[in-house]
This record gives sequence, C-alpha cells and structure tokens, in this order.
Amino acid sequence: MISLQSKTFLVTGAGSGIGAATAEQIIALGGTVVAVDRFIDAKAGEHQLSVQADVTRLEDLEYAVSTGKSHFGAIHGGVTCAGLSVPGDALVTDTETWDRALSVNLTGTWLTAKALLPELVGRGEGAIVTIASVYGMVGCSGNMPYNVTKGGVLQLTRSLAADYAAHNIRVNSVSPGYISTPMTDIISTYPPGEKAFVKMHPLNRPGKPAEVAAAIAFLLSDAASFITATNLPVDGGFSGVKDIVLS
Ligand code: NAP
Repeated sequence: MISLQSKTFLVTGAGSGIGAATAEQIIALGGTVVAVDRFIDAKAGEHQLSVQADVTRLEDLEYAVSTGKSHFGAIHGGVTCAGLSVPGDALVTDTETWDRALSVNLTGTWLTAKALLPELVGRGEGAIVTIASVYGMVGCSGNMPYNVTKGGVLQLTRSLAADYAAHNIRVNSVSPGYISTPMTDIISTYPPGEKAFVKMHPLNRPGKPAEVAAAIAFLLSDAASFITATNLPVDGGFSGVKDIVLS
C-alpha cells in the first residue's frame, strides 16, 4: 500500500488536468500539497496551500517553497506538471514560440528543481517527478517545439538524478500518452480527429489524469525507494507496441 503520510510535495500546474489530479492523489494518500499555478487563488488550508507562481520565474518558485515550508514544516519533493502544448514544424515556428515552449516546459522544470533542491539536500532525502511525454520518447510531425522540450525534460531528469543521488534524492519522469485534460481538448479539432489518436494506444481509450497521478504518487513514495533516473510511460501501450491498426 502506497503512503505519502506526513509528506509535503510542491506540485506545479496544480490548477488543472494532471497537476490537479496529482494534488488530489497526494492528499488522498495522507500527504499535503503546495499547489502552484499561474492563476490560482492564494489559499492556505490544512492539506493544501495554493500559491500563484510562474514556473519561468525562479523567485516565484523559491517563494512557493519557502511559504510551503513555513506552512507545513518541511518539503519532501515536487512534481513538475506545468506545461504548454506548442505545435508547429521547423518552418512555421518562429523564435518567440520556440522560446515560450522552452521557457515553460524545459526551463520551468529545471527552475522548479532548482528551487526545491536546497531544501531536499538540507534534509538528505527527497523525490522529484517530472512530466515528460511519449513525444519526448518518439517523434511525430507538426509538433517540433513541444517534442524538443519533452526530450529535454527526459535528459534533465537523468542529469538531476545523477547529480543528487549522493544526497538520497530520487528524480524520475512519467511520460503520459493521450490523457483527457483541458490541454488535449483541441485534439478533437485536428483533421485526423480524436479516434486516430485513441487508436495509437492499444488500450483504445484516452487515459485519465488520475491514472497518471497514481504513477506519480508511486514514484514519490517509499515504495519506489530504489528507483531513480528512470522514465515511466503511462500511455496505454503507445510506446511499447507498434501494431497494424485497422480502421
Ligand atoms: P493542463 O490541464 O493545461 O494543465 C497545465 C497547467 O500548467 C495549467 O493550469 C497551466 O495554466 C499551467 N501553466 C502553464 N504555464 C505555466 C507557467 N508558466 N507557470 C505556472 N503554471 C503554468 O495540461 P495537462 O494535460 O494536465 O498537462 C500537464 C503536463 O502533462 C504538461 O507538462 C503536459 O505537457 C504533460 N502531458 C500531457 C499530456 C496529455 O495528453 N494531457 C500528454 C503528455 C504530457 P494555464 O491554463 O493558465 O496555462
């Protein structure tokens, strides 16, 4: 049985989708949450402290960590769910779009770890879970900026794991396939339609945010105490199976 009893985790992107489900799951398993998002009402409760912060700004994240520590007494790790979908190929993408994708999805993940690490190093333990994507593991057309950021998140995760293993800090990623959240609402408007996306997943349905949150909670917990520098796809078989798909 997984428990996060008496542990506090900072979750970015906690106002929506996978981040919101992760915050819920941590609390359901006995933990407490510092919930960070761009537009979230600042609120201090028994189980959740909500802090408005932009993950591209280190000072915002450091503020979230320090107020979280004051409120709950300690921070035991974090989950980096804040992210943007940024489609485009190399010709249509302009440098402003490229910079925005990198600054939120990749720099934001690094800065979240950077804000958390002094506290975790000080404690001599910790767990961080980053959110990559199946499109960090394989390519797809028309999604270049996003795919690049998620490939970067996977390598950032391994580098963090290597650098902080000596401090007993574990760093892992999860790579979701198609999960129904506000970010993927747009999929139904793509020319191939939602059905085509679903068919790439052998389980033949979109995943639910709670199913990603369950994998994240496992990686945060002591049940994963000998797991670091790894990537766990939560993708209904997308990354492991290449079957002929009959329409
Ligand atoms: P979501 O529902 O759109 O949630 C993302 C959250 O991040 C939103 O609340 C968003 O706020 C917030 N955010 C964006 N930029 C931010 C910033 N600069 N600072 C702080 N917060 C910021 O999307 P989701 O589907 O749950 O995605 C969560 C993570 O999973 C993302 O990294 C995404 O790339 C990854 N992922 C999702 C899927 C999927 O199928 N859903 C698949 C693979 C990977 P705003 O709404 O105000 O922008």
